[in-house]
Parts: sequence; C-alpha cells; structure tokens
Amino acid sequence: MPVAAPPEALSDAVRAWLGDGRHNLLIGEERPAAADGRTFETLDPATGKAIAEVPQAGAADVDAAVRAARAAFDEGPWRTMTPSARARVLQRFAAAVADRADELAELESLDNGKPLKLARKVDLAETIDYLEYFAGWPTKIEGDVLPVSTPEMLCYTRREPVGVCGQIVPWNFPLLMAAWKVAPALAAGCTVVLKPAEQTPLSALRLGELALEAGLPPGVLNVMTGDGETGAALVDHPSVDKIAFTGSTAVGREIGAKAGRALKRVTLELGGKSPNIVLPDADLDAAVKGSFQAIYFNTGQACNAGSRLFVAREHFDEVVGALAERARKTRLGPGLDAGTQMGPLISQEQLERVTGYIESGRAGGAELVAGGGRPEGVDGGYFVEPTLFTATDDRLDIAREEIFGPVLVALPYETLEEVAARANDTEYGLAAGVWTRSLSSAHRLAAMLQAGSVYVNAWGMSDPAAPFGGYKASGVGREHGHAGLGQYLETKTVWASLR
Ligand code: NAP
Ligand code: MG
Repeated sequence: MPVAAPPEALSDAVRAWLGDGRHNLLIGEERPAAADGRTFETLDPATGKAIAEVPQAGAADVDAAVRAARAAFDEGPWRTMTPSARARVLQRFAAAVADRADELAELESLDNGKPLKLARKVDLAETIDYLEYFAGWPTKIEGDVLPVSTPEMLCYTRREPVGVCGQIVPWNFPLLMAAWKVAPALAAGCTVVLKPAEQTPLSALRLGELALEAGLPPGVLNVMTGDGETGAALVDHPSVDKIAFTGSTAVGREIGAKAGRALKRVTLELGGKSPNIVLPDADLDAAVKGSFQAIYFNTGQACNAGSRLFVAREHFDEVVGALAERARKTRLGPGLDAGTQMGPLISQEQLERVTGYIESGRAGGAELVAGGGRPEGVDGGYFVEPTLFTATDDRLDIAREEIFGPVLVALPYETLEEVAARANDTEYGLAAGVWTRSLSSAHRLAAMLQAGSVYVNAWGMSDPAAPFGGYKASGVGREHGHAGLGQYLETKTVWASLR
C-alpha cells in the first residue's frame, strides 16, 4: 500500500501508532476489517499523499456495530451502573485523552492539515474540557415530582437514556466534533456508533481505543470508518434510536427527512453564512483582529465562520485595507511546520469548491482585494490564499452560499435597521457578530439577529456549558450544557395511585 513515510516532525509515539498505516474498525472490543474487505486511504492535505488506510464500512459492518451498541445498552452494565460509577469511567476517559493530548494534536494536524498549535490549543483543549464537563453530569440528572391536582396520586418524571445513538461528524474539527457528540450521549447512559468523516478517520479510532483503555464497557462506543454510504446505513438502521449529525445542510436535510419518517430522535448542526457587523462606534483594531480570526481561523473551515462582513460605510475602506494587509502577511504551510499560521484545505474537492467560488465572485463583479490564488512556496497540497472580496450586491453566490474556505465578502451598509435586515436575509442562522462600544446597539442587534449564537466584541466563543446550534436551516436542537444533555434523554412520567 502506498502509504508515505510519516513527516519528520511527528513524535515517536504517533509514528508507533500509525505503524504500517493499516487501521481497523472498532466494534465492541474487536478490531475487524470491513466484512467485504474494502478500504480507503486518508491523505495528508499538505501533500496529498496517503498517510493511512482504513476500512470502508458497509451495511453489514454498521449492522454489527449497532448490534454491539444495542447489546451494551440492553444487557450491558452502562445504563444500570450507578451514576457515580459512570461518572468515574468518564473522568478516566477524559484523563486518558488529556494524557495523550500532544499525540492526538499531532495526529489531528497530520490528518486534517491544521496548524499543530491550533490543534493543541483549540481542538484538544476543548475536547478535554468537554469530556470533563460531561463526566460531571451522570450524578446530576434529575427528574421532578409534579404538583398534579388528582388527589392521592404521586406523579414524577424519570430522565432515561434515549438508547443507541448514531453519530456522524465532519472533518473540520474531527476529534472535537466527536467529543461534542459522544460525551453527552455517554453521560446520559446511551451507547454510540460513531462515524468520522472519510477525510479524517484517525482521531476517532484513537478516541475509541482510549475509551476502552479507560474502562468504558465494550460496545458502548463503536467506531465505523467509511463515507456517506456508511453514514446513510447508520441513519437507516432500525435499531438506532437517535441520530446526531454535524455537516452540510444538504445532507442534514436528507437525514432530517429520514429521521422524520422513522420518528427517530435527531439533532442537526448544519451550515452557516454568518454575518459579522462592524458598527460606526466600534473599536476598529479589535474589530479587524476579531473579524480576521472569525473567517480565516481553521482555513475558513468552521460552520460558524464570520463569512459576511458588514462594515459601516464611513469605516469601510479602513477596515478592508487592514484585513487585506493581514491576509497578505499570513504564512501558509503544513500544519506540522512550527511557523505555519494557516494550513491547507482538507481535500482536492474542497480546493475545487473554494476556487470555484472565487471564480464566481470575480465573474459576478465582486472586487478581489487580497488572495484569490494558490500561495507561493508550497508544493502540492490543497492550499489557497486567504481571500477578501468587496461587493455591494448581497445576492452574489459568494455572499449567500456557504463556501467553507478562507473567503470573506465585505459589504458596506448605512443604518442599523438596514444591516439587521440584510444580515437576516439568509436561509442560515448559526451565528452573528456585532462590534460596537454602545451597549444599547449591542443588545438591540443581539435581539434582532436570527442566529443561535451572537458574539459581541468577540467571535466564536465556545464552552461546554453554553448552548450551541442553529436557527432556520442551520440546524435542529442544541448541543452543550443542560440543553445538549437533554437531547440524549427521554422523559417518562410515572403516575402512582396512593389509594
Ligand atoms: P457532508 O457530506 O455533510 O459530511 C458530513 C458527514 O456526513 C461526514 O461524516 C459524511 O461522510 C457524512 N455523510 C455524507 N453523506 C451522508 C448521508 N447521505 N447520510 C449520512 N451521512 C452522510 O459534508 P462534506 O461533503 O464533507 O462537505 C461539504 C460541505 O459541507 C462543505 O463544503 C461545507 O459547506 C459543509 N460542511 C459543514 C460542516 C459544519 O460544521 N457545519 C462541516 C463539514 C462540512 P463522508 O465525509 O465520509 O462523506
Ligand atoms: Mg461528503
């Protein structure tokens, strides 16, 4: 198999784990190949070369994994374990990930292309926070005693785990998105079949191994590598009680429709075209710095990227000029190179998609102010420069559609009411930002914007306690915190006559 020699920058521990580049599925505590023997390669986005080969799980493999998860739910000790025992296993799981954080960050940087520092400070730091936070929940899941008006009747609720969860995650934050799904499910007492994206299967497999090492009973967390077909088999499986998905709105619609027909529980975290608004009284330095990060962080591959920048007309040229200057100075390179500020896109497919949008922006009459091409000095890999357009027409494709790359469209505006209406004129509603020194403008806009998260003088904040999710076509349900845990629990009302 043509797996390339691992990059020099990798530690011995990660090299040892990569081994000969062959990795298998995780079902219960078994490590099988796909039943039909199919495999696919995962590529290093900085070079386009194969780094490992993983099974292409088919319907038979998905069935085996769902059976393992079903048995672990119905018969296994997970759901019936005392809450404190379940919490202790989850604490050990979080600690196992924390112990391996440097290795996991390297693996993530290699498989996804993101700068190692970003992988460590964002993906791993937040994954650990997330696992630790949800490890605290099993002992705090409470029902209520209800003040019903039927005499001599005890009425109370129990919160019970939903059951077997199929969890499908994307490639932009592979391990973190897996943690966002797995942690609340496990805390609730559910069992899981996790499907990472085909572009980034490695950290999910490692996560599954660490869970077993930490004492999670076999079958509670199973990992299926594969593609969209594998995901669809999981969604279609009759013994899956709940689907949790993060990815494109197109696939989310399809999954939502299937879940609706089957009446499965479903949560969807989908795309965005998030507006970021700089008001006339903003601290412009802070706004430029924050708006730059809002779009170019993770090479623009973030569902909540601030990809539509509305700037008050009087500051438009100044803000655009400062952003362009920063974009031109950004150092692109492989994630594992210490000097890299921005890594490549995930794949050839994404490179073509993003460059297609850049072409469409040019053709549609938007003005290209920075970037737009492949950076100099990088050979191979899926690199594209941080790109900045200005435009006046909100109906351009680049101003309406999710690009999922480092492409920003800046648009001037005149009044607060006008900008709120334009910001909301989208099918999406994941996030929005406001830069201002005025408390009243900040909170007026926070109330007017149709978005699941609004950031004021900040962008992209995230915390395991703070709900995250979308309005409109950006999703269904919320992750994180109380609300996120609730998506993995059913409410049972018990009526007991005291007569
Ligand atoms: P995608 O197809 O929606 O992939 C997300 C996950 O769903 C992957 O694990 C994928 O598997 C799986 N999947 C694909 N088709 C499925 C189906 N019919 N049933 C069940 N699962 C299925 O996203 P993509 O193709 O990787 O990226 C396309 C666009 O989606 C991006 O350009 C971006 O606009 C958007 N996106 C959004 C997010 C987000 O965080 N909201 C993340 C990633 C992408 P495979 O990867 O193996 O196909
Ligand atoms: Mg896909």
